This record gives sequence, structure tokens and C-alpha cells, in this order.
Amino acid sequence: MVIKINARGRAAAPAPRPPRAGATPRKKRGATLNAGDIERFWAKVDQSGDCWLWKCRRTASGGQFRVNGKRPVAHRIAWEVTHGAIPPRYAVRRTCGNLLCVRPEHLQLASGAECAWRAKLTPAQVAAIRQRYSTGTISQRGLAREFGVSPQSINRLLHNLTWRQVTPRRGRAPAAASV
Ligand SMILES: [Zn+2]
Repeated sequence: MVIKINARGRAAAPAPRPPRAGATPRKKRGATLNAGDIERFWAKVDQSGDCWLWKCRRTASGGQFRVNGKRPVAHRIAWEVTHGAIPPRYAVRRTCGNLLCVRPEHLQLASGAECAWRAKLTPAQVAAIRQRYSTGTISQRGLAREFGVSPQSINRLLHNLTWRQVTPRRGRAPAAASV
């Protein structure tokens, strides 16, 4: 197989194989929602604040919505009912940094490559990270995992070495980088 290398020197993802002649089209990933499902979905969302919060079952990756025997992540559903199907290899990011937020205005499509290699934070996420770290309930590693960035990125922003334009962090002093 020939691996294409793009301008950044990274291997480009192989193009999807065309379907075999006569093959039945593969079932689309994700759940197909009918009008009733969509109504049931929004009934589980608290829309009273700036962020629209998922009120039901949740996991480490966000809210979970049970439909057709599956449990897709709630914010992906919110994107799909608003904009249509999520393109293959794309993720949906919450620009506000709120794990339970499903407000379509706070959701942004990001390619898998962006998520894996150049996950970038938004000012709102930086403020959220500093605020949550100051409460002492989550570690730098936990924050890194949750926001999809390296522990070093978290450490640097907690030391105000990056993102100085966002309100500097006060309170709990972060441990020096050990990684
Ligand atoms: Zn939000």
C-alpha cells in the first residue's frame, strides 16, 4: 500500500474503499432518530442557562442518550439533530468546555486529526480548566484527558505561561511539571 504524506509530513488517512458491486450499503454509524426520539432528547436537557445541560445518564465522555438499544453521546446527537450527520472521522467538541453541555451553538466539528494532534483549547475552556483545577477536585492529568490535550499543555496554562490573555489562575499552586 502506498502511504501518502501530506504537507505536514504526516501520513494521510487512506481514502475509504468504494463499496463492492452488489454489496448492501453499510449501515450508517450512529443512531437514526425519529421525531419522537428528538423530542425525548430535548426533554432531557436543561435549557435555562447559557450552557444547555444534560440532565440524565452520563459517563466520562458526556451525557448518554439511549436510543435503538445504543447509547450515543448526547452532544453528538445534539449536533446531528441540528446540522445533520457527523462526517466520518470527525468529532464534536464543546467550545465552552462544559462536559454536559449540548447547546448546538457551543458545539464545533473537529476532524479526528485535529483532535489527536493539534487539539486546541478555546479561551472559555482555558478559563474552565483554571477554575476547575482551583477547586482541587481534579488533577492535571484528569484535565488533560478530559480536554484532549497533553498534561504539559495543562501544566503550562496553569502556570500562566500560556493563555495569559485569559484571566490568570489564582489559588492552588500547581505542582511543577513532572512529565
Ligand atoms: Zn456550553
